[in-house]
Amino acid sequence: MDKLNQEQQYSLNDRRELMRRLIRVAIENAIPVDEYDQMSEEQQQHLSHATAHATNLQDYRIFMEELGLKEAEIKDIVVHEYAHADKANELGATFEGYQILLLKDENGWIIPAPRVKISYPEDWSHEKYVAVLKEITTAPEEYGNKLSPDDINDLKKTRPNK
Ligand SMILES: [Zn+2]
Repeated sequence: MDKLNQEQQYSLNDRRELMRRLIRVAIENAIPVDEYDQMSEEQQQHLSHATAHATNLQDYRIFMEELGLKEAEIKDIVVHEYAHADKANELGATFEGYQILLLKDENGWIIPAPRVKISYPEDWSHEKYVAVLKEITTAPEEYGNKLSPDDINDLKKTRPNK
């Protein structure tokens, strides 16, 4: 291996080590699923200590490999979350990163909950926000994937109040 390749290899290993640490910290802080279910939506959005945050798909992939997910599951999650991210960028919302929130069941088994972090311009009207949220939420279907239970929940928010 020449020097340049050695350096590239070194920084790749470094990156993996960093991602490994981030996911481990999130796993240690995993939220019991019954606790999570009782939280408000606002609280559910602010669980950074139990969340591993990646800015790109390579790092996101490392999280999932470290969690022991199978390649087919990883691919499925990547396609799904990428669809949300891509649609957000297309429609003028701000994609801020790929995340995995770590939950745990009553036996301590870890349940990874993949999601994307998206923010919306503050000057958007509520109608505009709801219309864009709906498109971002349903994007995985458009990209040949399926909606998650969380997506279906989010869609309920986009229905007009009666
Ligand atoms: Zn989704």
